Amino acid sequence: MVLYNDAKYLTQVEHNNFQQERSPGWVPPDSGIYRCVHCGDEIAANKGNPLPPQNHHQHNPPAPIRWKLVAVAVQK
Ligand SMILES: [Zn+2]
Repeated sequence: MVLYNDAKYLTQVEHNNFQQERSPGWVPPDSGIYRCVHCGDEIAANKGNPLPPQNHHQHNPPAPIRWKLVAVAVQK
């Protein structure tokens, strides 16, 4: 679960990018926070840098890592 202190810096939006499950190694077009849909592990990802590989963490029972966008950093 992403934590925050001041809600004035957050805006809830509807966008298809938040609905997609991304594979390890996928290159995000924006910087943001991604969450593993199987275990809830969260990562910060930088625009243009691949998401962590399949061996980033393990699931028991085994399941593939699938990342889902939960927050985007708006860069100016
Ligand atoms: Zn996981």
